[in-house]
Amino acid sequence: MVRADDGEQGGAGADHHGRERRYESRHRIQMIDYTMMGKPLKEAQGEIVYSASFLEWFAEEARRIYGDVIPASAKDRRVLVLKQPVGVAAIITPWNFPSAMITRKVGAALAAGCTVVVKPAEDTPLSALALGELANQAGIPAGVYNVVPCSRQQTAAVGEVLCTDPLVSKISFTGSTATGKILLKHAAGTVKRVSMELGGHAPFIVFDSADVDRAVAGALASKYRNSGQTCVCTNRFLVQKGIHDEFVEKFAKAIKKELHVGNGFDAKTTQGPLINEKAVEKVEKHIKDAVSQGASIVTGGKRHSLGKNFFEPTLLSNVTTKMLCTQEETFGPLAPVIKFETEAEAVAIANAANVGLAGYFYSQDPAQIWRVAEQLEVGMVGVNEGIISSVECPFGGVKESGLGREGSKYGIDEYLEIKYVCIGGL
Ligand code: ADP
Repeated sequence: MVRADDGEQGGAGADHHGRERRYESRHRIQMIDYTMMGKPLKEAQGEIVYSASFLEWFAEEARRIYGDVIPASAKDRRVLVLKQPVGVAAIITPWNFPSAMITRKVGAALAAGCTVVVKPAEDTPLSALALGELANQAGIPAGVYNVVPCSRQQTAAVGEVLCTDPLVSKISFTGSTATGKILLKHAAGTVKRVSMELGGHAPFIVFDSADVDRAVAGALASKYRNSGQTCVCTNRFLVQKGIHDEFVEKFAKAIKKELHVGNGFDAKTTQGPLINEKAVEKVEKHIKDAVSQGASIVTGGKRHSLGKNFFEPTLLSNVTTKMLCTQEETFGPLAPVIKFETEAEAVAIANAANVGLAGYFYSQDPAQIWRVAEQLEVGMVGVNEGIISSVECPFGGVKESGLGREGSKYGIDEYLEIKYVCIGGL
């Protein structure tokens, strides 16, 4: 279907100028989204490949939407199961992955036979429109992929229409838990199918048996990717007493050596600015609260000298579960470290949250790996891995982190109805 490198290569191999211009302009408008949300170029390019992978994956999955034949209990009957598209799907997406959060839903919806109405985030509407242009080029019929961008002021009203109109059969949303709950209430009126990918509060546990260097590398990737603005980013580190000091020291060293705040078009930049002033204020608030209750700043701790929404990658130690940063999602470059003594204590802290999206832990003890993987109340577990999202794996959460799964062989079910057909009198 649509390949990731179409935009990158500006239509290389295109046979006339009009087509080349279209490719270039799509590439340009999509870049504006990334400039606006602050993701460094390398991460943006990675997202485009990730984004395209969902279209490829679901284009293939479309051929595997199998029905079923069930042995009937009566001789004169035959029992079939058909899978049918749910109908029109309304898709509401966030700004942190302006392209991939759309294709992860739209790829599955189109493969199932649904049409879609996409409402992108007001901060990053252009990728959704660029995808519209690609849909045209790929030959998707008019009216199948629709985009309704709108301002922040209009968002609630547009959201309400999408979630209450009887013509819409399905809502798929990625965003905050608070907004998800509003949309769920709207959807209840007409009993729509819903998929919700909501907030997380990922724990990252480092046990005494861990390979500390591997844990540090995973911590860096899992915490500071996208400047800490992903729903699966680690939000709290729990580190066992015996390995604690070594982990904190090595983690601080790695942050200073490997993270570079700056212009996203600069090849060595790993950390762009946060999305807006409100996001910066939240990180500041969490640091201030933690420090006022006895946390120590190991590195970072303040706005970056570049100003605006740039923030220093921050590491706090001596953190306790009484602090705000361990109770709510920071969604920024702040790593708070809590010291613990026993496995049971760590699991209890990790599970003391009303959300459960991703969780990570580092251990080299096979029995502990099984125990903890099974006990963590989350939808996705990384064991000795800090980055676990990929197209073939089911993405989703438990508790207030959401409903349903995206990607993988399960993702397409979110857009399919099961119809049972009983043929009698045979
Ligand atoms: P964030 O705080 O990360 O912006 P939101 O949940 O507010 O997360 O936003 C995610 C998506 O939900 C965006 O597309 C946004 O426009 C949309 N949104 C926010 N509030 C509403 C609402 N009341 N109704 C429908 N969509 C909404």
